[in-house]
Amino acid sequence: MKKILIMAGDGIGPEIVAEAIKVLDVAKARFGLEIETDEALVGGAAYDASGDPLPEESLAKARAADAILFGSIGGPKWDNIERDKRPERGLLRLRSSLGLFANLRPAILFPQLADASSLKPEVVSGLDILIVRELTGGIYFGQPRGIREESGERVGFNTDVYSESEIRRIARVAFELAMARGKRLCSVDKANVLEVTELWKEIVTDMASEYPQVELSHMYVDNAAMQLVRAPKQFDVLVTGNLFGDILSDEAAMLTGSIGMLPSASLDEQRKGLYEPCHGSAPDIAGQGIANPLATILSLAMLLRYSLDRGDIATAIEQAVEKVLEDGLRTADIYTDGCRKVGTAEMGDAVAAALRA
Ligand code: NAD
Repeated sequence: MKKILIMAGDGIGPEIVAEAIKVLDVAKARFGLEIETDEALVGGAAYDASGDPLPEESLAKARAADAILFGSIGGPKWDNIERDKRPERGLLRLRSSLGLFANLRPAILFPQLADASSLKPEVVSGLDILIVRELTGGIYFGQPRGIREESGERVGFNTDVYSESEIRRIARVAFELAMARGKRLCSVDKANVLEVTELWKEIVTDMASEYPQVELSHMYVDNAAMQLVRAPKQFDVLVTGNLFGDILSDEAAMLTGSIGMLPSASLDEQRKGLYEPCHGSAPDIAGQGIANPLATILSLAMLLRYSLDRGDIATAIEQAVEKVLEDGLRTADIYTDGCRKVGTAEMGDAVAAALRA
């Protein structure tokens, strides 16, 4: 029996995860899905309970699970505690302890929400791209790093580093995903300036012969940032390193209008994964019952597709979300005139009902 660990976290985390659990319960009943669920503390909530944003017990449960459904962590309450104990550290440690090196961020624009984007509807309507970001290497982790004294002033420095094997394993994930989608892969680098991405480009190019059906292209990161707002539908799958991926995936996120709609997955080599909405804990609206739960519900769909091999249930959940949007239900963040404004629980109930139907 597959095990899913629920880590709701802080702020709006518990509110949005509760709605995804409603949808999971319906999925279990409708599809005869046999899974076990468990819960664990993470982030500020875990720090308050135990002095550690990722207690040993939570990490042990995460290791034992096949997949993790994660809410969000952090908030002003914990902004001034020592760096190592901050909620974000809990999530970073969880990702690195589990070897979750592949971050998948789809940017899909449901046609019903085309007006929510800041770009013209014809530029974004029907958008369906997937950004694959390397998550455990590159400049965010490279050594040496720090701030040192040099010639009487402080100098900050970091190291961007990727080994061949790190590049190969993330490229493999991207090629495989491209095979299962539109068969087009764009690798993003800055090979004209950075040696580390020169190697990146060389390895990705070398691997293309293993995937003759995939049309591979390369783009410098500055051009990719521009093309994403100029003509985003030219892309199918993009693959890039940690730093560029961080920035481009947020840019792609905004093409869709609301951060409240965007799911994500972080996978290891066996496709065990951590699934979470792209947004944070939204302390400004926590506890008000108005957060959009759809990113978390769509993260659950990704969990079923990638870690539990149940693409059929994932598609049914995505269709239920689309049906609810078609019916005109909107949380405040995606609301436009003429629609019906609903709260977090009502949105979750509506998706659950559409999935049951
Ligand atoms: P945020 O994503 O929490 O919020 C940005 C804005 O988007 C806010 O106005 C918020 O109300 C809105 N928003 C976010 N999610 C929403 C939803 N589901 N429905 C409706 N509106 C939504 O980013 P932030 O304000 O920069 O960070 C807040 C806290 O979250 C910080 O402590 C930060 O460190 C943390 N954070 C956590 C994660 C994570 O858990 N993976 C990611 C990013 C930020």
